Amino acid sequence: MTACANLASRLHLPPLGLPATINPFSMRNRIPLSPAALLLALAVFAPVGLSAHPQVDSGYAPVPIFEFHSGFWLNLHHTLYHEARKQHDAAAPQPNLPAKSGKPALRNSPDPASAFTPSERQAWNDAVAYYAANFADKDLLFANELVDLKNLLGEFEDCADLSGTRQKFCNAGLDPQLTRILEAAAPVYRAHFWPDHDRANRRWILSVSPLVREQGLGISQRLADIYETPWPKRRIRVDVSAYANWAGAYTTVDPLRVTISSLDPRNQGNAALEILFHEASHGIAQPVEAAIIRECRQRDKPIPRDLWHALVFYTTGEVIKPIVASGAPAQSQSPAPSDGYTPYAFREGLYQRKWEQYLELLRRFWQPYLDGKVTFDDAIAHIVSAL
Ligand SMILES: [Zn+2]
Repeated sequence: MTACANLASRLHLPPLGLPATINPFSMRNRIPLSPAALLLALAVFAPVGLSAHPQVDSGYAPVPIFEFHSGFWLNLHHTLYHEARKQHDAAAPQPNLPAKSGKPALRNSPDPASAFTPSERQAWNDAVAYYAANFADKDLLFANELVDLKNLLGEFEDCADLSGTRQKFCNAGLDPQLTRILEAAAPVYRAHFWPDHDRANRRWILSVSPLVREQGLGISQRLADIYETPWPKRRIRVDVSAYANWAGAYTTVDPLRVTISSLDPRNQGNAALEILFHEASHGIAQPVEAAIIRECRQRDKPIPRDLWHALVFYTTGEVIKPIVASGAPAQSQSPAPSDGYTPYAFREGLYQRKWEQYLELLRRFWQPYLDGKVTFDDAIAHIVSAL
């Protein structure tokens, strides 16, 4: 037994390499399942779903706020998408666009593909080609088709296949060609990528969990107060994946689910806590966007597309900063706060690149609200007046 397996056993984790959960009750229905398949799935899973709350947990007790997963199919999906995007970008370079400086260089060393057998190479190349032809020009966050597929693969993460060949309840109801492609790529991924990816996911979960357990409730209450919105009652599902999207993390709503890359250098250390709560804030910060739109309409001003997002970045950073400041060195060369932890938007240069005016407005008019000196509505009104 390896050291990792010992650790997993002690922490009540499933062994490395095994998938983590199925919960048919939170399945979206935009990917069609036949009525018979749905009834069968509900019938088979009802006792499990009612009695268990499976997840990749990080200690002796579940963490509050979030429900962490390291799921095989979801990780395979994002890895294939990542490979297909590389092909897509290489085939259609856009010289007029500046290079995306934030794009992480994620590599397994040595390249797992170098160890493929000829038949493995064929299956893997076919899968990447399918993703390149069907998905690579679509955005993981904005294309409903990809959001639905991601959610569905998360639901079936405990299944050995997606066609229901071995267990009928594992028939995910996907397009037959996509099912064949994923099932053919699965043994290749399981042999050459998944052990490293799953280990990285679990390491990321284990590293962020102590702070979530100690501070998560307080942070969530503070953010809910700030946005004047109740925090979701159910724990928010977080799918930890070797690869996520170009940003390193993204959040889809209805149901609210976060996907975070465990390998992305931007998501490591104390930044992991900020990323978690930034992403979760996407699910509760709608009042900010609504208030900005309302104030703009009243003043007949164009609605600034990214202002609400800059505000969410600023707010999460300010809420997280004092909590993690003691343990993290300042890393920014920008005019960022110098007291220990440098929030993500400063560290990654978001304000300097496009949100410089927003930062000034947030400091002048939003910070007083965070300090309890003005109301939410007054703060937003002042920001919009000054645009
Ligand atoms: Zn965001």
